[in-house]
Amino acid sequence: MKAPKDQHFLIDTDAVDFIADSIPVEGRNVLEIGPGGGVLTAALLERGANVRAVELDGTLLPNLERRFKDELSTGQLTITRGDASRVPLPEFDLVIANLPYSISSKITFRLLETGFEAAVLMYQWEFAKRMVAPPGDGEYGRLSVMVQTYADVELILELPPKAFNPPPEVDSAVVKILPHEPPIKILNREAHEILVRELFSHRRKTIQNGLKGMKSIYGEEIMASLINGLPKELLGKRPEMLSVTEFIELANLLANHIQ
Ligand code: SAM
Repeated sequence: MKAPKDQHFLIDTDAVDFIADSIPVEGRNVLEIGPGGGVLTAALLERGANVRAVELDGTLLPNLERRFKDELSTGQLTITRGDASRVPLPEFDLVIANLPYSISSKITFRLLETGFEAAVLMYQWEFAKRMVAPPGDGEYGRLSVMVQTYADVELILELPPKAFNPPPEVDSAVVKILPHEPPIKILNREAHEILVRELFSHRRKTIQNGLKGMKSIYGEEIMASLINGLPKELLGKRPEMLSVTEFIELANLLANHIQ
């Protein structure tokens, strides 16, 4: 198998400790995606975590198996070889990982769908900023809404390229994710996802024009009837002004129209 990209190993030991100490891990099952050389794995094991690692690159396994021989024999550590965005995941309560950036989006939504108590994950700085951006912020978009609908997110650490070996081309950031139920019930998750995607695919358009553009998906009649029932003030806004709750309210109205 070709060696995967995304191999930037964390060498800033203060950052390793900060990440490992950012949530209590003792006695908990912690999923670690991409243990690499095992720097974070070691810190988590030292703090009493049961680490469930998933690593794509088989060439890294002999080193990990040597380094963590004892923990592997007691079961405190297990290592699954495979692509964390696709393989069946081991059981876990928490996720702590210096993620491979190429699967940031896919793995984040997979984890949110699977469910967990808390996660501390490293992302590209730009991606992390979009995840945590509030309404009205230039970075607020589809990713912000879809993540913040299902979790509280907080950027807890920024790291420059020199914290890694080899250094990546971009800055990185660590985000703490605490999942929660959506602020109000989502009647139709698919309709909610489509609405958020479509409105942000033309972020300069007003909500009215964005909704009109969705006639190719739901038909002209349905969209016209939805628009007719909405307040003018909302129709004149741009998608970046709508809160997570307002997106759900709008999606629920759409869901009622397409029933
Ligand atoms: N955790 C180590 C550290 O902090 O130094 C390594 C982090 S490195 C950014 C990402 C790791 O994820 C590498 O070990 C890489 O082989 C692994 N990886 C890449 N794609 C993966 C995937 N799809 N599933 C699981 N691991 C993956």
